[in-house]
Amino acid sequence: MIPVRGFDNQKVAVLGLGRSGLATARALREGGAVPLCWDDNPEARARAVAEEFTCSDLMKQGAFDDVATLIVSPGIPHLYPEPNPVVAAAQAAGVPVDNDIGLFFRSFATSEWNHFEVMPKVVAVTGSNGKSTTSALIHHVLDQAGRRTQLAGNIGRGVLDVEPAEDGDVVVLELSSYQTELARSLTPDVAVFTNLSPDHLDRHGGMGGYFAAKRRLFSEGGPDRAVVGVDDAEGAYLAGQLSMGRADDRVIRVSVDRKLTGPGWNVFSKKGFLSEYRKGRQAGSIDLRAIKGLPGTHNHQNACAAYAVCRTLGLAPRVIEEGFASYPGLPHRSQIVAEAGGVTYVNDSKATNVDAASKALSAFKRIRWICGGLEKEGGLGDLVEAAGEVIKAYVIGREAAAFAMQLKGIDAEVCTTMEAAVAKAVADAEDGDTVLLAPAAASFDQYDSFEKRGDDFTAQVLARTE
Ligand code: ADP
Repeated sequence: MIPVRGFDNQKVAVLGLGRSGLATARALREGGAVPLCWDDNPEARARAVAEEFTCSDLMKQGAFDDVATLIVSPGIPHLYPEPNPVVAAAQAAGVPVDNDIGLFFRSFATSEWNHFEVMPKVVAVTGSNGKSTTSALIHHVLDQAGRRTQLAGNIGRGVLDVEPAEDGDVVVLELSSYQTELARSLTPDVAVFTNLSPDHLDRHGGMGGYFAAKRRLFSEGGPDRAVVGVDDAEGAYLAGQLSMGRADDRVIRVSVDRKLTGPGWNVFSKKGFLSEYRKGRQAGSIDLRAIKGLPGTHNHQNACAAYAVCRTLGLAPRVIEEGFASYPGLPHRSQIVAEAGGVTYVNDSKATNVDAASKALSAFKRIRWICGGLEKEGGLGDLVEAAGEVIKAYVIGREAAAFAMQLKGIDAEVCTTMEAAVAKAVADAEDGDTVLLAPAAASFDQYDSFEKRGDDFTAQVLARTE
C-alpha cells in the first residue's frame, strides 16, 4: 500500500466504495488522514464500516465544511452528462475534487529514494483501445527480463494498493480517460497514448473532451518520454505538439500504417515486422507474426508501444523479443478458448466499442461473429466495412433485432441470448472457421461486466465442444 501524504489529521471525503474506493480509504488512514466515506449502496457502506471507517452522508447540509478534498471513484460522473450531486456539493463548497491516481502521484516518491541507486519509474498507458494489453505486455517483458515491476490501475489492482517502491522498481499503470480527466497530479516518467476512437462520449461532452481527458497525461508535469500512436489524427497532433523539432527523441512515434524513418525515434510495424528507427537508422527489428499471444495488426500496435517503453527503460531488442514470445495474453482479449473440429473459438468480449471489434474482425479469417449488446453512441458504421471476413453474424442483446438491422449486407441472425448464439454458431461452423465473440457493444443490458459475458461465451463453447 502507498500511504497518502499531505493530509495529516485532515478530513478527506471518499465517494464510491468499490475496490478502488476502499483501497483509497485505507491508504488515507495509513498516511494519517481521517477518511469520511460514502456510497449510495448500503452494502458498500457496510463493507467500509466493517473496516471501522466512518460513513457520513455527504449530501447533508454542511457536509464539506471542514473537508480538505473529495476523492471520487472513476464510475461517478463529475461533469458530464451531469455532475453527481455530491461532487456538485463539493464544488459549491470550494472543496477540490481528486481521485486515487492524483493521490498516488503525490505520495509515491519518498525521501527514502535518496538512498536508491536506480530511481523507480512510473509508466502510464492510456488510449481508447489496447491499454490493458500494452500495460500487461510491458509488465511481462520487464518481469521476464528480471526487472522489479508492478502492474496496477484500470487493470484490476488499485494504484494505492501497489507496494512502496524499492530500488529500480517500474510501476506500470493502465489509466482510463475517467482517471486521467480528474487526477490533480499526473507525473509519469513515461506516458503512452495507444490510439483514439469514439468511446464514453457522454462522460466527456463529446470527442474533444474525450481527447482532452487523455491528453492531460502529457501536459500536467510532462513525462520524460512520450510514446504516441500517430495513426489517428489526434495522436499525430499530440506527437507534433510535444516535439520541439523533427529530431526530438523525447517523443517516440508508433505506427502500424506506415514506415517512420525520420530523424527522431520511431517504432513501426509493416506486414508483421516491427522496426525501430532512431536518427534515421534501424536500431532493432522483431518478427511479430510468430508471436501467438499478439495476433492481428491491433496487437502489433500494442507490441510497438510496449517495445518503445521497454527500450526507454534500457532493455535490448533481443530481450524484448524473448518477452514477447512468452506473453500469455489476457483473458477476454483475442483469447483462444477452444479448438475443435478445425474450428477456433475466440473470446474478445473486451471489444466493447466499434473500433476494437473492427480490429478483432480484421485479425481472423472466415468468421462466425457473435456481436451485439448495449450499443454505444456513434452507430455501427465502420463495422460493416471491417466485416469482410464475416460469413454470418449471430446477434445477442436485448435490442438484438435493432442491432442486426444495422449490419447491412451481412447475413445476420437474431439470437438474443449467448446460449442460442453459440449453439447456432457451433452447429453452422465448418473446418477452418473462427467463431469470434467481438460484441462492439457494452455488456450491461445482459451482464454485470464484459468479463461475465466472456465467461458465459467460454462456458457455452466448452459445453458444446468438449
Ligand atoms: P483497453 O484496456 O484499452 O480496453 P485491451 O487491451 O483490453 O484495451 O483491448 C480491448 C479490445 O480492443 C480488445 O478486445 C481488442 O479487440 C481491441 N484492441 C486491442 N488493442 C487494440 C489496438 N491497439 N487498437 C484497436 N483495438 C485494439
